[in-house]
Formats: sequence, C-alpha cells, structure tokens
Amino acid sequence: MNYHQYYPVDVVNGPGTRCTLFVSGCVHQCKGCYNQSTWSLTSGLPFTDQLADQIIADLNDQRIIKRGLSLSGGDPLHPSNVSTVLALVQRVNQECPGKDIWLWTGYRLSELNAQQRQVLDHIDVLIDGKFEQDKADPSLPWRGSHNQVIHSCKV
Ligand code: SF4
Repeated sequence: MNYHQYYPVDVVNGPGTRCTLFVSGCVHQCKGCYNQSTWSLTSGLPFTDQLADQIIADLNDQRIIKRGLSLSGGDPLHPSNVSTVLALVQRVNQECPGKDIWLWTGYRLSELNAQQRQVLDHIDVLIDGKFEQDKADPSLPWRGSHNQVIHSCKV
C-alpha cells in the first residue's frame, strides 16, 4: 500500500484531536473529488512498518492526547489496500487501548466483500459512499454529500 499524507496531529478529519492517514488508490472517480491525486495506487510513498510503528507511537503519545485514528484517501478499502489496513487497525486495537478508529470509503456498506468487512470488526465508525456533487453540503459533519452515511461499527 502507498499513502499520500500522514498527519500526526489533526483536528479536521473526525472528532477530537487525531492522527490521520490518507492512503493511495481509489476506483470511484467521483465527480468533484477533492483529492484526485490519490486515485493511483502507485502515487505517494510506500506505507512501511516504520510508519505503522510511528502511528502507534503518536496515538499513545501523552504530550498531545489523541482521541483516535482517521483513515481516508484515496480509499482504505480499495482491494489492494485492505490487508495492510486490516493489519494496522488490528495493531491499533491491541496496542492503543481507548483510541477510536474512523474510516472513510467510497464503497457503500452493502457493497463490501468479506475481506473488506473484516476491517469493520476493528473500527468504530465507517463513513460510506461516493461523493455525489448534486448532494454535496459543506455543512454536513464528517461527510461531503447527503448520500454518505455514518455507521457505528461497535455496539
Ligand atoms: S471515494 Fe473519495 S477519493 Fe475516491 S474518488 Fe470519491 S471522493 Fe475521491
């Protein structure tokens, strides 16, 4: 998996103060996409074990308390990204107690295959669906258009 940006301190992408990773690779080609440079799987930089270790360390860093991790892109549930994202969210669950995980995907929840759904077992919130320009509303919290849905993945 490649990634485009990693922000160790972010207050924009999800609630509270967070670590945020924007991965590379997206098949959805939404009209009006804010981040077309992330569409190619080969764009950005390789996601390494060192970066995964850094994310874990940043989430646990007591100097700036983080509420959790946000995963966006690109699409973290692009089939080529799922195994790496699954390993990351499993690590966060095990090594960062109390931290939540929010994930944005262009797929609808009902479209996810078995492997993609495995990721849902380890995250707290899924925001699903393509960005649809005719349903866009900048006042919506955590999503760009009305068709997108915020799903709680933990009961
Ligand atoms: S899912 Fe997101 S990154 Fe992918 S094309 Fe749509 S808006 Fe852009």
